[in-house]
Amino acid sequence: MDVRIDKLCTTVLSLCLCLALMPVRATALQVLVPMSARDGAATQGEWRQAEIWAKDQRALTYWIDAEELCGRQPAPATPCAREATVVASLAAAARDWENACPTCGVSFTRTLDRDRATFRVRYISAVLLRSGEKQQPDYVARSFYPRSEMKNRVLRLSPSFFSGPLDPIGVMRHELGHILGYAHENSCAGKVNALPANLRSITVTQADDRSVMRQPCGNMTADGTTPLSALDIADHRKIYGPVFAPPG
Ligand SMILES: [Zn+2]
Repeated sequence: MDVRIDKLCTTVLSLCLCLALMPVRATALQVLVPMSARDGAATQGEWRQAEIWAKDQRALTYWIDAEELCGRQPAPATPCAREATVVASLAAAARDWENACPTCGVSFTRTLDRDRATFRVRYISAVLLRSGEKQQPDYVARSFYPRSEMKNRVLRLSPSFFSGPLDPIGVMRHELGHILGYAHENSCAGKVNALPANLRSITVTQADDRSVMRQPCGNMTADGTTPLSALDIADHRKIYGPVFAPPG
């Protein structure tokens, strides 16, 4: 299935070069660390710099742009169909991550106060091309990493989020994984992960073709539900656990 969950695949020349040097691989949860860290051999200091939410920042809140989704003024008591889908799928995906590690302190809660939200959820129906034409985004959803600037803390949803074939809850699980700091598990042939400047992803444990953070390279579950795998849960507990212990 040639469906991209998000647009973390670019044609940036330097990254294409990286792809040429790196084999296609599938690994368990990867977090972002400084460029200087060595693959599989990060020091304790480098692990402390891993791009995850600090213990006092893990009560994450989101504001849903109901006006964009519904094309009218927000009315929380009577959401439109798209807003209802976002509310339900995001809450379900959040619950799965929260339940994966009840002692990690990670929570995702909707707020109606845009100015106090950790991130915004937007509906992007079309993007403007250089030619001046508008077209539907070529991603289903895309999100951000923990140290993104406030203005970039946006979870974007395109029309294809609502029209399938991927399960909205599965897409949300994957995007919340990025928001927690997890990079893609794998690089599909011909695709490149676009990671933040000065950061790279690092292998945490072992291969996991079932991870929620894999890119869909034709190996999605038949219904595209993308649950958290056993290794996802185990790694998440190690990375966000009460006692920070670099997975090994
Ligand atoms: Zn992704």
